[in-house]
Amino acid sequence: MPVTRRTFLSTTASTLALGLGPARGFAQPAAPVAPPPVTNFTEIRRGVGFFTGSGGTIGYLVNGAGAVAIDSQFANTAAIAVAGLKQRAPQGIEMLLNTHHHGDHTGGNQVFRGAVKRIVGHVNCLEWHRRTAAAAKSESQTSFADTTFTDQWKTSFGDETIQARYYGAGHTSGDAVYHFEKADVVHMGDLLFNRAHPNIDRPAGASVANWITVLEKVARAHGNDTIFIAGHGKDNAVRCGKAEVTHFRGYLSACMDTAKKAVAAGQTKDSLLATTTLPGFDDTIALNARLTAGFVLGVCFDELREKK
Ligand SMILES: [Zn+2]
Repeated sequence: MPVTRRTFLSTTASTLALGLGPARGFAQPAAPVAPPPVTNFTEIRRGVGFFTGSGGTIGYLVNGAGAVAIDSQFANTAAIAVAGLKQRAPQGIEMLLNTHHHGDHTGGNQVFRGAVKRIVGHVNCLEWHRRTAAAAKSESQTSFADTTFTDQWKTSFGDETIQARYYGAGHTSGDAVYHFEKADVVHMGDLLFNRAHPNIDRPAGASVANWITVLEKVARAHGNDTIFIAGHGKDNAVRCGKAEVTHFRGYLSACMDTAKKAVAAGQTKDSLLATTTLPGFDDTIALNARLTAGFVLGVCFDELREKK
């Protein structure tokens, strides 16, 4: 297929969106200049909102004390987020909180580093971040969390209280959930994919079985008015309610059930990989070519086989 400007741009956008880095393989002179990324600040309530650009959703708080950000996307959109937050908060950006270590959530940490006093993350997030950066030999260009926690972490900021909780392994083994208590807004990071097949990082300690439990605990811990920010969503729909958390729990549960049946029937993993839709969850989309229903079922299959 000839590479038109349109297909190049959409490839670039979808590749960037999932942390795979810029598209490669185009001859330098012919490569068109990508337009500036489309970014948006959307306020939710009480100074809490979210920023979409490329990669995982950035959550933010702006109040009289300044600003706080959750996750940093990639360097290019992080620069736009930092500039926009500084404009909204003359007191500056106090801290950056990381939900987990993936590049589309921490790739902009270094841009924030110069603006914030600290970077916070779960202890496993830091560990995976260090290991992946070491493997990629990119430590010198990476900014890591300098403040870590194991179960919980809490801070007050202006008239808001921020509570971090760790519920155990899910999307990785280092995912934190951050709650702006007064605004009652929860940033789920990649523990919540809204109507999109999720990425699941088994090499970094993910557990689908426990992820289901994590979502149940999160749903129980919050009220019906709580607003949840998803790491990724179909058509950028990342503002969610408890119904979406419960729906995603049901989706993961259905994936596990399908994989269990396949294991019990002696089917091969290959037979699952071609699956494109799950009954009852047909509106779930693939955010890129890798993250299909088949990918998720394959991960469930591996997890079930490992247990035996
Ligand atoms: Zn992730």
